[in-house]
Amino acid sequence: MITRRKLLKNLSSLPLVGSLFGTGLVTGAAALPTAPARDYFKELGVRTFINAAGTYTAMTGSLMPEAVSDAIKFATGDYVNLDELQDKVGERIAELVHCDYATVTTGAASAITFGLAGVLTGLDEGKVPQLPDLTGMKNQVIMQKSHEIGYAHALLNCGVELIFIETRKELENAINDNTAMLWFLNAHNFIGKIRDEEWVEVGKKYGIPTFNDCAADVPPVENLWKYTKMGFDLVCFSGGKGIRGPQSAGLLLGKRELIQAARLHAPPRGNTLGRGMKVNKEEILGMLVALEIYVTKNHQAEWKLWEGQIQMIHDAAASVKGVKPIKHVPDVANHVPSLKLRWDQDRVKITPDEMREALRRGHPSIETVGDKEYVGITTWMMQPGQERTVARRVKEILEGAKG
Ligand SMILES: *Cc1c(COP(=O)(O)O)cnc(C)c1O
Repeated sequence: MITRRKLLKNLSSLPLVGSLFGTGLVTGAAALPTAPARDYFKELGVRTFINAAGTYTAMTGSLMPEAVSDAIKFATGDYVNLDELQDKVGERIAELVHCDYATVTTGAASAITFGLAGVLTGLDEGKVPQLPDLTGMKNQVIMQKSHEIGYAHALLNCGVELIFIETRKELENAINDNTAMLWFLNAHNFIGKIRDEEWVEVGKKYGIPTFNDCAADVPPVENLWKYTKMGFDLVCFSGGKGIRGPQSAGLLLGKRELIQAARLHAPPRGNTLGRGMKVNKEEILGMLVALEIYVTKNHQAEWKLWEGQIQMIHDAAASVKGVKPIKHVPDVANHVPSLKLRWDQDRVKITPDEMREALRRGHPSIETVGDKEYVGITTWMMQPGQERTVARRVKEILEGAKG
């Protein structure tokens, strides 16, 4: 069957295609989609692949639903006032995720920077251009040692000093007049000694704003409101992970006044720390539409689909003697049906590193994750149907490596 896109592609390779449309030789031309016939990635020699890994920044995050790219395209057609758009979209997002106020940022990392910048200056516009020089302002952010991952660097952009603690007692001792904010990494909730609710409680006790980085933490969808309701003053999510919005967009959610303060650091204002973190009208709108789709979709049906896909790949791998696939769901962050492929390397003579490379080099190319011990697979970032290709390739490679 020839799809419209293929038809268009073929037509566009003919000379004088325009005149064909004019002659009535091609009927229904007006209804044909204006999808690009060019394969830009191919032209550039850039490899595309089946994403069996998950939402990885290096793998360009997630794929946007068509309604999101339609919204982005729509936004290209008119001028609007950037602040007015952010104001209105912020209200709409706050409604969708049941919080006080919200704004679209250039990703979760910039939401962290903007959120802290707003905490540091408040609504004092005189202070805004001073950052990252914090003379006369609070200059410390406290976090648990176990919550220190690379993304905490987004806090350092504001010129603060990071103070690391482990216990509640250490936390309360560390709090002083220079403490601006208490930062929390949701993905490590169960790793640190102080859990989310207690973190909020301490923040409230001392009147210090708390921030929860939930960048990769949907599903479940409830997380979009769970932590603002719990009492975190600010919460951020990535746009281009589970929500499947633009990769360079994100959400800052929380207290209205803090978000208004954060906005003072954002474009169009030029003499600010955040001027280089501009989100355009296309992605602001794309982010909103992605969120609308995300909160209203059938999450149960989607979960069932993922489980079925994982089961299929599991069964294909398990059919090879010596292979022991393990199904699991991470507690928090990338909380989706997942698979760990392990095997007896005396019987199946390939290492996990070699297996990942073999999947990558195949046609189509398939990206997976893992380490020296296992190959990790998720299906939530795949296009439906691709799980069959992955199951087949996994089996082929493992079968072929049998000694
Ligand atoms: C991905 C991630 C970020 C960065 O998110 P972006 O939207 O890419 O800026 C920050 N924190 C955590 C925990 C993440 O997983």
